Amino acid sequence: MRKRDTYARVDGDVLFLGNSLLEIRLSAITGGIMGIENKKTSIQYVNQEESSPVFYLWTLLSDKLHPHGPYFGNDSEPVKIRSPNRKTFQSFKLDNTAQSKSIVIEHRLLGSIDVAYTLTVSKDSDLTYWRIKVNNQKKDLRWGQVVGIGFPQLSGLRLGQRSENDVLVRPNRFGEKIPDPVGKAGSYPVNLCYEGFASMMWMDLYNTESSSGLYLASYDKTLLMTELESEADVETRTMRLGLRKYAYIPPGGSWVSEPYVIGVHSGDWHWGADAYRYWAKSWMQKPDVPDWVREVDGWYGVGLGPRQYHDSDSVYRFGHIPSLYREAEYVGLNWIEVWGQMVMNGCYRFYYPDPYLGTVSELKDAIRKVRKRGGHIGFYVNVQAFDPRLPQLPVRYHGRIPPDVPIPSWWDEFRNYAAVHFDGSHTRQYIRHDEWSDGHRIMCTACEGWRRYLMYWAIDKYVKDYGADVMYIDQVSSPPVEYCFDFTHGHSHHGACVQGRTETLKRMVEEGRKAEQDFALVFEGNGDAVGQYGHVHLLTSVAGQTQYPYPEVFSYTFPDAIIIDGFANGWSQETMSCYYPKMKNRTWRNEDVVNRVFLFGYRFDLCLPLKSGDPFTEYVRKVINLRKRIKTWLYSSRFMDEIGLQGLPENVVAKIFSHDECLIVTILDNRALRAPFELRIELEQYESPRIEGVTMHTLEDTGELEYVVDQNAVLVKISVLPEEIAALILHKAMTKDPGDKPS
Ligand SMILES: [Zn+2]
Repeated sequence: MRKRDTYARVDGDVLFLGNSLLEIRLSAITGGIMGIENKKTSIQYVNQEESSPVFYLWTLLSDKLHPHGPYFGNDSEPVKIRSPNRKTFQSFKLDNTAQSKSIVIEHRLLGSIDVAYTLTVSKDSDLTYWRIKVNNQKKDLRWGQVVGIGFPQLSGLRLGQRSENDVLVRPNRFGEKIPDPVGKAGSYPVNLCYEGFASMMWMDLYNTESSSGLYLASYDKTLLMTELESEADVETRTMRLGLRKYAYIPPGGSWVSEPYVIGVHSGDWHWGADAYRYWAKSWMQKPDVPDWVREVDGWYGVGLGPRQYHDSDSVYRFGHIPSLYREAEYVGLNWIEVWGQMVMNGCYRFYYPDPYLGTVSELKDAIRKVRKRGGHIGFYVNVQAFDPRLPQLPVRYHGRIPPDVPIPSWWDEFRNYAAVHFDGSHTRQYIRHDEWSDGHRIMCTACEGWRRYLMYWAIDKYVKDYGADVMYIDQVSSPPVEYCFDFTHGHSHHGACVQGRTETLKRMVEEGRKAEQDFALVFEGNGDAVGQYGHVHLLTSVAGQTQYPYPEVFSYTFPDAIIIDGFANGWSQETMSCYYPKMKNRTWRNEDVVNRVFLFGYRFDLCLPLKSGDPFTEYVRKVINLRKRIKTWLYSSRFMDEIGLQGLPENVVAKIFSHDECLIVTILDNRALRAPFELRIELEQYESPRIEGVTMHTLEDTGELEYVVDQNAVLVKISVLPEEIAALILHKAMTKDPGDKPS
């Protein structure tokens, strides 16, 4: 056998599948995983004495005399986990084609549920493809509904000598980077649901000492709801990584998965992000972003009504919107985003404009005034939650809602559109016990009835009737995203929530564009699938959602996504401290949040009071002015994290962006005593351009900097920054160096 060949072979009780870069070993007796080897670094990833199953099934248990009958699961224990073992093992088969080698393993569970999985490697590829097929020949509904497929499952993972050097990167919202995930067990959730917590379908575990990494992804174009599992085993000091799909395979049904991918690599998580981006780009739609959104620097977010979204003392009404917009203009923005415009204010789920804030014609007039000044204005709708108390409203609204306005009714209609658990119950949100309501209900976004309601308010009323040109859709990529076990809604799998959200956003954009050709859709959270249609992702990277926040993960994977970040969901001292672990005892300010938004090149989410003359407002105005001086390049560049950046002193952070005409470096110097330093940028990471001038833009001014080119790197002397943030533009020579010409 030549060294570079691919191979699938059996030797005793072990099945071997590999190529020049990697090898996977399975047990020929159980079909379980025994080993994954990175041949480049000679590291064995799987550290366990016995093989472990690579899949499990969830079957519904519906054998109790339950009022719902056998269709729904028992309320006490709806789901049973079924794992394969030596007894369920049926056979293995080696497949050889000219391009690739495969191993196929077959199991039979519960006497009549056939499961076959196939692992494939190709020549010189560091990606292995895994597929699973379930053929359910069970006859009895009470034990025979398959409702979850955990695959692939990899346990015993440790990618170097010491698990302390392992790092887990996950797509928890904007991203998470968890050093020593075994040692940190318990401080992060095991499961991340795509796309409530998880914004993408990939994870990466790598070891900083052995420079070895494992990439696990689902290449599922059907966007089935997927759980990303990462669980530490503190006894063996290893990790289990796995995926689970919410596919529905009833008795007599079958299901074939889309591919799953396990990659073996050197280096860190950026490899995984590159691999996932390559796949996503191969099929995902690019959002049709209006020109004004590409150019926009951010929004001024205001909350109307007494339940202020921010801490202003004022109670704003529709009539105040034009003057609030003037404050946005003062800091350099042309966009006002409005919360609380509806009955009950806040983020309520019935969207008729609150009569206590003014009339509908006053609202329309306010919108018209903003638009007349060239401004953009958006309002709030929630994608998934409903108040089951409706149509009942507090007494103060009696007689205030015109009779031709449809007030949605839970009992008469909307409970038919709610997401349903395996046991027939509803998913609740914000559960409270101090009032008669026990929380909102999570609705099925794949259900036409619910979608009709959202379309009516978001598009028919706010865009087409009232004249808004933006809609903000809340909780699109935000928990509690749920499966829905009500198949009368028309979805064929209960894991339809990502499909439902994606389709809903697609239709909103299509319909919105019919009335307003520059209509823009913003959504809460960030996500690859919904980002095909939604134009702006609202990050909440400072809002305390994880102890390991790392927005680099999503931004580097999807550098074209337009992201707005800042204050909409509040921010916490704890989260800010997570970003700067070496800075002790510093009290962070609103200005520090703005600085981070600047650093990442995100658009500014300013959901807090702005007033000319106020120090924070004046600071924001200067930062936006600085942004405007670099945005020509920045907004059409690619976020490259810190690749190729060296020489940053402690407590100085920088990010690099790649543009055809230049490299852009944003700098955030958090040191108590700022001092000069020398920044080194490795140019070979950027196709070795010839640098022809370095400009530094600060809050105060713009000037040329001295630089030296040294062995394919450029060294820039950074003088003491007048304030914490600055940006460098390293201009590329647009003509080739004469010396480069072939003679
Ligand atoms: Zn449903």
